Amino acid sequence: MFKALVLTQSDDTIQAALDEFSDDVLPQGEVLVDIAYSALNYKDALAISGMGKIVKSFPMVPGIDFTGTVLASQDARYRVGDEVIATGWGLGEKYWGGLAQRARVPGDWLVHMPRGLDAFSAMVLGTAGLTAMLCVSRLREADVTPASGQILVTGATGAVGSIAVQLLSRLGYRVAAVTGKADMASYLQSLGAQQILARDTMSKAPRPLETQRWAGAVDVVGGDVLARVLAETHYGGAVAACGLAGDYRLETTVMPFILRNISLLGVDSVYCPPSRRRAAWQELSERLPENFYTQISQTISLSEVPATAKALLSGDIRGRIVVDVRAD
Ligand code: NDP
Repeated sequence: MFKALVLTQSDDTIQAALDEFSDDVLPQGEVLVDIAYSALNYKDALAISGMGKIVKSFPMVPGIDFTGTVLASQDARYRVGDEVIATGWGLGEKYWGGLAQRARVPGDWLVHMPRGLDAFSAMVLGTAGLTAMLCVSRLREADVTPASGQILVTGATGAVGSIAVQLLSRLGYRVAAVTGKADMASYLQSLGAQQILARDTMSKAPRPLETQRWAGAVDVVGGDVLARVLAETHYGGAVAACGLAGDYRLETTVMPFILRNISLLGVDSVYCPPSRRRAAWQELSERLPENFYTQISQTISLSEVPATAKALLSGDIRGRIVVDVRAD
């Protein structure tokens, strides 16, 4: 038997409760994994709180991320005892996810644990780390280099934002960080941010073009913040957009694109192809300092997940929430 957090729906309300199951209730799949850690992502918090129509069928085990050890495998690429990472692919949305002690998934959804990471550190990264790395890769592919100028990261104390600030700074970029948390300047500086901007200075709707300030940006917020970032990006710059923590809408004009040659780059981690995913995990395993993983994370148990999900949606959480699925 294994423990899982399960979402059920009655009268349009979502209930989250711990329950116990046997392996035979797990979905079909080639690889059975003994989960060590999962995480609480923004999308998981939406799912658990019944917002955003994330969950496609009930009952559902939420959790878009997990790490663990292979217990049984019909896929020749994975052997019993291999350490693996899973993120995205509809886990916790369409398929039973990682906020449990066991999962069964197709082998194509797994990545072998790269050297330099372990089950805990890989979950400190998880979907947030993969997304931050994909954003940075998109900027590099658009020729935004450390010599191009300053890079702006929005929602900087959140999970994707914290990892993006640290990664960019380790890669030699000068980083400016936007935050709504006035007391978090020293945290952001410790991750490598050289300039901190208060969120309200960036959330005012912009004119079509503003003074050019940023060579590039990683945006997790959307809405007016993203519109302002676009209006303030240098000629030839690029903005990687991956989130909607502020607003899913984007009201802008074509001016930054047609007068400043700016690129708006979409980033999705959920269905990111396996080869790009493996390359991103490999680079993540090489770039981050050892103390980073404890610096940005806090660890909770499965039973603490529902209350923490509420705090996360209210924007009160800093960094990354790792879930130890064996802890009481
Ligand atoms: P977090 O909740 O950890 O961080 C979001 C941060 O955004 C907050 O910490 C806060 O940072 C800022 N924020 C919160 N509310 C608002 C608001 N109303 N207006 C402006 N800023 C706000 O979430 P994640 O970092 O995990 O995810 C961030 C976004 O990226 C989410 O929308 C998520 O869905 C998306 N995402 C997308 C992925 C993809 O594949 N495209 C993958 C992963 C995440 P601060 O206080 O510092 O300003």
